[in-house]
Amino acid sequence: MLIQSLFTNRIAVLATMHQKEQVMAPILEELGLKVIVPANFNTDTFGTFTREVKRPGTQIEAARIKALEVLEITGETIAVASEGSFAPHPSLPYISSNREIVIFIDKTHDLEIIGEEFSIDTNHSCKIIRSVDEAFEFASKVGFPEHGLIVMFDENPKNSSEVFKGINTKDKLTEAVNFVLTTTGKAHIETDMRAMYNPTRMKNIEKATRNLISKINSCCPQCSAPGFDVTQRIQGLPCELCYAPTLLTKSVVYQCKKCGYKENKLYPDGAEFADPGQCMYCNP
Ligand SMILES: [Zn+2]
Ligand SMILES: [Zn+2]
Repeated sequence: MLIQSLFTNRIAVLATMHQKEQVMAPILEELGLKVIVPANFNTDTFGTFTREVKRPGTQIEAARIKALEVLEITGETIAVASEGSFAPHPSLPYISSNREIVIFIDKTHDLEIIGEEFSIDTNHSCKIIRSVDEAFEFASKVGFPEHGLIVMFDENPKNSSEVFKGINTKDKLTEAVNFVLTTTGKAHIETDMRAMYNPTRMKNIEKATRNLISKINSCCPQCSAPGFDVTQRIQGLPCELCYAPTLLTKSVVYQCKKCGYKENKLYPDGAEFADPGQCMYCNP
């Protein structure tokens, strides 16, 4: 099936108010879609990075809710939404990581396809500070002023009046820090992770959108539906020296969400054996 014939000249609504269309729209338009951004769609009601509004459910659920909501508001049939998360790297806890997902929902063809990017390229960090000098020292390490900052009274603000977001000039930073310090003697400073204040995150959203396009272009060999994707990873890639199974992926299962057709693909990472450094016998 020609992917183009499914999407050409259809409208895709992008559920964002953080200017993500700058990187996402040109990529989505490669499918023949016409991308629109609804006015006044407040994604902050679905959770904020600064925690005064909690995110509903998992990262994928949160993106899905935004996409479905924007379809409801506009009456269109295709929506795209993205959602980011930041956490210590699963195996390197001193390094921050950023996982971006982009969800594509097509009501007409009953499709839900998810693109993803996992990266350690992020400036995500925070600190308690007690002077304006300390604030500027933090700022100098996180790419300010190209990357925005947030200053608050407390790590867990109760409402948005306690949060100074989108700080991207020295004057604004000095003013916000002084205001908070005068009241409490210390301030919580952190990186603003909203896409338009964070070019590093914007790049990861762009990569997740590229990944989405490659998944849309991956079609089921049986029914031609787009989104033929890996649903399962099977461990056990053998050690190169002793042939014992390791925790590395030996094969992956692709499955079509439409017709259920499955395909097993051996050695998805290109190698038939694992480095002995990954073996629990050769490298205990
Ligand atoms: Zn299929
Ligand atoms: Zn071994």
